[in-house]
Amino acid sequence: VQGDTAGQFDVQFEATPNNLESFWMPFTWNRAFKRKPKVITGAKDMHYTSDDGRQILDGTAGLWCVNAGHGRKKIVEAVQQQVARLDYAPAFQLSHPLAFQLANRLIGMAPGDGAFDHVFFANSGSEAVDSALKIALAYHRARGEGQRTRLIGRERGYHGVGFGGISVGGIVANRRKFGQLLAGVDHLPHTHLPEQNRFAKGQPEHGAHLADELERICTLHGPETIAAVIVEPLAGSTGVLVPPKGYLQRLREICDKYGILLIFDEVITGFGRLGTGFATDCFGVTPDLITVAKGITNGTVPMGAVFCRKGIYDTFMAEAEQAGGTIELFHGYTYSAHPLACAAGLATLEVYKEEGLFEHAAELAPKWQEAVHSLADHPHVIDVRNLGLVAGIELEPRTRAPGARGYEVFTNAWEDGLLTRITGDILALSPPLIVTEQQIDQMVEMTRKALDATP
Ligand code: PLP
Repeated sequence: VQGDTAGQFDVQFEATPNNLESFWMPFTWNRAFKRKPKVITGAKDMHYTSDDGRQILDGTAGLWCVNAGHGRKKIVEAVQQQVARLDYAPAFQLSHPLAFQLANRLIGMAPGDGAFDHVFFANSGSEAVDSALKIALAYHRARGEGQRTRLIGRERGYHGVGFGGISVGGIVANRRKFGQLLAGVDHLPHTHLPEQNRFAKGQPEHGAHLADELERICTLHGPETIAAVIVEPLAGSTGVLVPPKGYLQRLREICDKYGILLIFDEVITGFGRLGTGFATDCFGVTPDLITVAKGITNGTVPMGAVFCRKGIYDTFMAEAEQAGGTIELFHGYTYSAHPLACAAGLATLEVYKEEGLFEHAAELAPKWQEAVHSLADHPHVIDVRNLGLVAGIELEPRTRAPGARGYEVFTNAWEDGLLTRITGDILALSPPLIVTEQQIDQMVEMTRKALDATP
């Protein structure tokens, strides 16, 4: 499936200090970057081109989003045609055909055997998360349970950077500088149990009991005050934490027992990463709301979405009807269901389907597992975790400088021609789903080389 790339364009840019100055880069060590910039100027299938003309094997599908590989002709042409036909349509009280078509396509492929019936569009994972939290809160109110205002997240959860997302998220660095955040938020413990589960392949055996913490929180506050629990079914950004066997089932049971909505944040796991359309299929647990982004447009045009389980939309409609109201949900974005994003999304879903990329990911998963676990013998490596086509490789941190070793491995890999992703001392690999067995071997070999080159 590799090789149908659209035209490449030359970019005139020199990474001089002057040229780099004005851009305040997100989630970046700006000072280090500007001393030694890493600049990408092109991309094709499994590779990026750097500004010094090197080919970089994409070990991370961009930022976990380019699942079909780069420069896919069908997607490029769909966006080109759409921008010429209809560049923008107001998103409120008006719409355009592709918005409905994409929503129908998404519901057609949604997990959970027809459990979901509506899609709300946003422009990023962060916006999808905030939308889902607001839908959950307003849903309970529409049902006459407005006292359900508490939200439960999880330690080491990443749900983007909106105030909702960082409130339910559990990454200390993302929260600590921003004041009080949302009130009424609690956190479940994370599921990382290195002592019991080190080097587990696929889902670890131990840790289902950690879901019972939800019972404790319910007892503490009264379950009737809790609106929703949000978790990443597999936590990606904080180091690929695979859910222990039975954990998500247990969360679902407790949510059902108390009428709490369960939200899966599938911004990373959606669209094939685990070898199934969604993590919901992979783990056999169906939440009430699913947030997606990234792979929905293969990373080409920003888009996020919330899948709503049957009954949620109808509840809003019924409440507005009864109240004699007009707009049922006072929420939305100028760019909700943007025509270019919808065009990119429709083309992307076609590529996934035509090329059987989710199935391809599932077929490669055993090979992937074997390859990434071959790094377990490296002296820097203290854990390897994997599922589908994602892996986390945890390095022993240097005592006085946590994160330094990870950053050096990332830099060494980049210089050698491999893009990896680091969170502190955890290296994540999540290649485009078009990856070949040979490229998997190459990726693992290059990772070993980068580890060897790092003291
Ligand atoms: N939720 C999860 C699980 C994510 O992994 C991410 C991004 O990595 C987000 C939300 C935020 O998405 P965005 O960066 O598009 O706002």
